[in-house]
Amino acid sequence: MTVRRQIRVTGTVQGVGFRPFVYRHATRLGLAGWVQNDSAGVLIEVEGDEGAVLEVSRLLVDDPPPLARIGTITATPVPVEGDTTFAIVESESGGAPTAAVSVDTATCTACLAEIDDPIDRRYRYPFTNCTDCGPRYTIVRSVPYDRPGTTMARFTMCEACQAEYDDPLDRRFHAQPNACPECGPRLLWGHLEGDAALEAAIAALEVGGIVAVKGIGGFHLAVDAANEEAVGELRRRKARDDKPFAVMVRDLDEARTLCTLSDAATDALTSAGRPIVLAPRREDAPVASGVAPNLPELGLLLAYSPLHHLLLRGVGRPLVMTSGNVSDEPIAHEDADASERLAALVDGVLGHDRGIHIRCDDSVVRATSAGRTQVLRRSRGFAPQPLSMVTPASRPILAVGAELKSTVAVTVGDDVVASHHIGDLEHFATYRSFLQAIDHLCALYAVAPELVAHDLHPEYLSTKLAADLDLPSIGVQHHHAHVASCLTEHGRTGPVLALAFDGLGYGTDGTLWGGEFLVADLRRFERVGHLAPVTMPGGVAAILEPWRMGVAWAHRAGVDDSFVDSRRDAVHDLVARGHGPVTTSMGRLFDAVAALLGLRPRVTYEAQAAIELEALARSVPRAEAPTFPVEIGRNASGSLVIDPSPLIAELVAGRTRGVSTPVLAAAFHESIGRAAAAAGADLARDHGLQTVALTGGVFQNPRLSDIVEEAFTAAGLEVLVHRIVPPNDGGISIGQAAIAAATS
Ligand SMILES: [Zn+2]
Ligand SMILES: [Zn+2]
Repeated sequence: MTVRRQIRVTGTVQGVGFRPFVYRHATRLGLAGWVQNDSAGVLIEVEGDEGAVLEVSRLLVDDPPPLARIGTITATPVPVEGDTTFAIVESESGGAPTAAVSVDTATCTACLAEIDDPIDRRYRYPFTNCTDCGPRYTIVRSVPYDRPGTTMARFTMCEACQAEYDDPLDRRFHAQPNACPECGPRLLWGHLEGDAALEAAIAALEVGGIVAVKGIGGFHLAVDAANEEAVGELRRRKARDDKPFAVMVRDLDEARTLCTLSDAATDALTSAGRPIVLAPRREDAPVASGVAPNLPELGLLLAYSPLHHLLLRGVGRPLVMTSGNVSDEPIAHEDADASERLAALVDGVLGHDRGIHIRCDDSVVRATSAGRTQVLRRSRGFAPQPLSMVTPASRPILAVGAELKSTVAVTVGDDVVASHHIGDLEHFATYRSFLQAIDHLCALYAVAPELVAHDLHPEYLSTKLAADLDLPSIGVQHHHAHVASCLTEHGRTGPVLALAFDGLGYGTDGTLWGGEFLVADLRRFERVGHLAPVTMPGGVAAILEPWRMGVAWAHRAGVDDSFVDSRRDAVHDLVARGHGPVTTSMGRLFDAVAALLGLRPRVTYEAQAAIELEALARSVPRAEAPTFPVEIGRNASGSLVIDPSPLIAELVAGRTRGVSTPVLAAAFHESIGRAAAAAGADLARDHGLQTVALTGGVFQNPRLSDIVEEAFTAAGLEVLVHRIVPPNDGGISIGQAAIAAATS
C-alpha cells in the first residue's frame, strides 16, 4: 500500500550530514518525497510502500548519522501526492531558529587519509573537512546553518568542491566549511603562505621557539614540551607561574609514552570533542618539569585539526599547547587582536584566513579511578550541545552564571544550552567576551530572553549585568544552582540531600558559604548543615594566601600556628577579633590544611593548594591512611555543624612529631570525607531521602569524591555525581536556568 508520512526531527540535526543520510536511504528504498532543513530542525516527507516508509523512521531512531543528536522524532500521516522522485529542498529561512548548532569535531579518518595521500587534491591541506568533521560552533554566525551564515562565506568554492557540495551521495554534500587548496583558506606565517608557512613554524618549534598557532576556537601558544628552557621561557612571557600546561600529541601511541591511560581516558582522548584529558603521568615521560609543576597528572590532548596533525608530524614530538593569552585574559581568536596581544609573547604566528567567529577554549575532562569521566571544563567540542531540562521553561530564560569559570546559558524549548567556557569575569576583556557570548547564544537560537537568572552575590559582574538588563530577574543561591545543575544532568527533580562543597558562594545570610548540606529540589532548598564557620582574615586576600586560612583554623582548633607565616601575629589578631567575612567554605579548609602542613602558603592559581594536597595524598594507599576525629554537632538553630578542629589539632601534632606530609594529607582526606558522608547519611535519613548529590568545585578532587561516594554507597544511598556538567562554577548557569524554569 502506498502511504505518505511527514517526519519532524529536532535536535542537533543540521550540519551533521542528516539530509544526505535521508536522501541515500530514501532513494535506496525506492521512496519519493523530500527532505529539508528549517528553523526547527529537519522536515521530511516520504511516500511509497508502507514497509519502506516505516523503515525510514526506524533508521532515524536506531542508526542516525554519527554527529547527529536527536531530540524528538514525530511522524504524521499526510495525503499521498504522487511524487516520483526524492529531493533535497533548499533551507527555508524565517521563523525562529531552534535547530541546534553542532559542536566542533575532530578530523575524521577519511579526511586524514586524503591529507596523507600524495595524489589526492587535498594532500597536506590544513583545512580539509567533511560532513562528519571540522569546525561548526566557532564559525557559525547565524542559523539555519548554511555557508553564507559562517565565516566561510567569503570563500567561493571551486568547481570540484562545488560538485562535492551539490552531490547528495558525496561525503561533502552540504559540508559548509568544504574547501581545498584551490579555493579555500590558506596558512600564513609573515609573508609566507601554505606549506612554506607550515615549514617555517616547524623550524621555529624545533629550535625551542614559541609559536602562536591559530586553531579551531582560538590561538594556542605552542612550544616543544620536552625543552625545559623553552617551557620556562613560555611561563615567563605568559606571566604564568605554576598552572599546568596541556600537551598535544600526534596519536594514542605517543600519548602512552607520557601517561598511563585507562580505557576511560583512552575513550575520552579519542572522542570527537577531543578534550584535554587529565591522566597519571609516567615517571619516564619525556616532558619538561615546567609543564605541570608538582602534579602527578598531565593534561593530554590529541591533534584534532588537520593543521595540528601536520604540525605535530613535522616537529616529531609532543608540543605544549596552551591558550594564546597573557595570564588569565581570554584566549585570542581574532587575527588583529592576536598579533597585537601575542606579538610580544611569541617568535612567530602561524595564522590563516578562515575567521573564528566565537572563541572556544579546549575542554577538560578527568578520567576517574572508577573508570568514568568527569567534564571539568565544558567548552570546544561540547558547547553548544543542549541538555534537556526536567521542568521546561514557560518563557525564554537567560542565566548569567557566577564569576569564576563563567558560562552563560539560555533555555530553548525544553532544552538548556550553555555557552563555551568564558573565564573569570574580573578581567575587563573577559567581561567583554561574556557579553559577546550572551549575544552569540541568543542570536544562534533566536532567543529573546524574558527572564534573567543570576547569582545572589551583589558584587559579581554577572549580577550587576542582570540588574542592568531591564528584564524580570530571579536571584539563585550559588549552591542551590550547583545542586540543580547536577539534578539536570541526571534528569531528576529531587528532592535530594546535597553536599555542595566549593570555594565560595554568597549565602542567604550574607556570609560566604562553601561547605553546605542542602535538602534541595529544583524549586527550593533548605540549609540543613554546614562546615563550622571561621573568619576569613583579609577577605579575598585569603584566597591567594592559604596561610591566612591556616591561622583561622588553627585559632578555632586552639593549636599553635606560630610556624605558619612571619605575618601570622597580625592575622591572628584579626581572627581573634572576628575581623573579616565569615565563611563555611570547604575549599578554604583544604587551603588551610595545605598551609598548616607546610605545603603551600601562597598560590598562583585557583585551588592550587588543594590540588597539590590531593596530589601528595595519592602516594598513600587509602587503606594506610589514618583517620582522625571530626566533631559533628548541632547549632542553636538545629543545623548540623561539622567541626574539624580535633582533626586540625591531630594534623598539626603529627607534623610536629615528624609524620610524613603525604600520610597527613591522606589522613585529612579520609577523615573529612568520611565525616561528611556520615553527617550526610544522618541528614538524608532525618529527611527521608534515598539520594545524595555531590556538587561544587571541591568534588573535582578525585580522592575526596571516591571516599564520600564509597561511604554513601555503603550506607545504602544512591549517589549522583557530575559527569557532563562541570561540578565547578562552569555549571552554575545551567543550574540557574533549571531553577528559574521550575519556579517561574
Ligand atoms: Zn572528515
Ligand atoms: Zn575547492
